[in-house]
Order: sequence, then C-alpha cells, then structure tokens
Amino acid sequence: MPELRQNFVTKEWVIIATERAKRPEDLVAHREAKVVPTFVESCPFCPGNEAKTPPEALRIPVDAKDPWQVRVVPNKFAALSREVQPVRHLQHLRRRIEGFGVHDVIIETPDHSHTTALLSEAHVANVLRAYKSRHDALSHDPRIAHVTIFKNHGVDAGTSLEHPHSQLIATPVISTQVRQRLQEALRHYDDVGECMFCHMVHGELEEQTRIVLKTEHFVALELFASAAPFSTHIYPLRHMASFGDISAVEIVDLARVLRTIMAKIYVGLNNPDFNYTIRTAPSESVGVKYFHWYVSVIPRLTRVAGFELGSGMFINTVLPEAAAEFLRNVKVESAAGAGAGS
Ligand SMILES: [Zn+2]
Ligand SMILES: [Zn+2]
Repeated sequence: MPELRQNFVTKEWVIIATERAKRPEDLVAHREAKVVPTFVESCPFCPGNEAKTPPEALRIPVDAKDPWQVRVVPNKFAALSREVQPVRHLQHLRRRIEGFGVHDVIIETPDHSHTTALLSEAHVANVLRAYKSRHDALSHDPRIAHVTIFKNHGVDAGTSLEHPHSQLIATPVISTQVRQRLQEALRHYDDVGECMFCHMVHGELEEQTRIVLKTEHFVALELFASAAPFSTHIYPLRHMASFGDISAVEIVDLARVLRTIMAKIYVGLNNPDFNYTIRTAPSESVGVKYFHWYVSVIPRLTRVAGFELGSGMFINTVLPEAAAEFLRNVKVESAAGAGAGS
C-alpha cells in the first residue's frame, strides 16, 4: 500500500508509492558500459594542462616536486566573484547584494576515467582533506556566511565535464532552505533538549532496517522519508555541527564509508549519475548543540516532474527499507565494516 511519510527535519511529506515501481532492481538502467579514457588531451583538468586552469588555491601533496593527487583551483566560470564586496542594497522591495563569493573546483585525481567508487580509500581521504582545508579557510572570512561542498557526476546530475571533480561555493548569505532546517533543529532542541539528528541516528541504529553500514565513527542509512530512491545519508556518530570539526581519524573513516557507499551504488545500480553534498552548519552556527552535519548522496535514477514542481512533494518508488537491504547486499571489495550492526 502507498504511504505518506514525513521528513523529520524539513517536515516535508513524501509519497512512498512502491506499486509504481516494483523492486529496487527495476530502477537499474541497462545502459551500455561507457569506456572513459584515463587521459584526454583537451581536458583542462588532466595532467600537463595545469596552465589551462587559474592558479592553484591548494594542492596535495604540497611539495610541487611530487606529482599532484588533488588540486583546488578557482572556477574559471565562477558563479560568484571575489573581486567585489558583499554590499547590500535595498530600493522599495528590491533587495540585492553585490555578487561576492568564492567558487572553487576540486580536481579529485589526475586520472580522467576515475569516479569516487574507483578511487582508493586513501585517495578519497585526500579529497576530503582538501574539502576541509578550503572549508576552514573560507569559514573564517567574515564576509562568508555559508560554505556548500558538492559533487555533480554525469549529465543527469548537472555536469557534462567528465574529469572527476567536485565544487565548493561560499556565499555571503544563508539560503532560506538551510535557514529553515536550522530553525526546525533549534525548535526540536528547545522542546526536547537534544540534537534531533543524534536522536534519529540512535533510533535507526536500534531498528536496523534502514542502516546500510556502520563503522566506528559513521553510519550510512536510508532516511525513513527518503525523497528519492537510494538517496543515502552518512552521519558522524559523534555530535558535530560543522564539517570543519571532523578529526584526522574521522576523515580516514569517512573516506572508507563514502567510497564503500559509492562503490555499492556503482556496482549495484550500474554506475548511475549522482550528486553528493556536505550539509554543514553555517559559519555563525559552528559548535551549536542543535545541528549535526552529514553527507547526502543522491543517485540520479528518476526525474523531478510536474507533481513535484507543483506540490513540493516527492514520490519515491522504492521503499527505503528495501533500498537499504539492497545496498547492504551489494558486495564490494575492501568493504571494511560493511553490513548492518557490524
Ligand atoms: Zn581530464
Ligand atoms: Zn547531533
């Protein structure tokens, strides 16, 4: 039977309409395996073409004598500019701000053909270290209100640039969507006296049915009211409001969890396009007890259509419990810590 479920943070309702879909396997596209070359001469992110990007903001390893593993460069086609100041203007009801901001590209690997699932855990850890380093540096700029780190992989996820990369956009304002989540979390904290994310994770670990994997420091799960099939959240078990609070040991563990989840999606769902994003507290809310950062992974298996646009309600055709079971059962190598309850 179909069911409506409410998201615990946003309070948005999701229709879980499994009659329309069937089993998780039915969403697996039978696309032909695409052969991606490891090097493309014209690609600005491939080794040897470093001069085609703006100068590096960060490089791993730091020593330029060694070949780079990860590079961070300003986006050549940046959405916002560091060349202006975030001056506010108000005229009648027209509010605007000069387009100040920072737009980085994180080039994740020299290998053009790799995707997160194909990187080593040690390499994913370096990508995460680059995220944290840029996040921390920008969060300290008083003109920056919020830092969003995200990855678009594939045309259905919003990019046609094949070389593995992610992006960071630092904005002078906090979006209404982020602000509403913070306010809901604060309300819960005031009412109940605990972080709603810690509360949710605790309940999910007790019930187990939506857990995909758990390690010493992280848990990956399908939300009870997941808006899209196989959309997976990764939460730190320790309460932390900001991604910037992650420790060196936790970065290594997160790399293992993120790579394992991406590998399960790559193998089990036949390499779909995907987005992931790090949802973290704005700079002004670092250290608060009511918000908890996490990683949201969304394989692009379905499309948003008229009902979603018109109602703001999503229809998910895969039962989150079935998606969790499916992902638990996808075997990938080096799946340390995989399996519910391990
Ligand atoms: Zn390339
Ligand atoms: Zn928490």
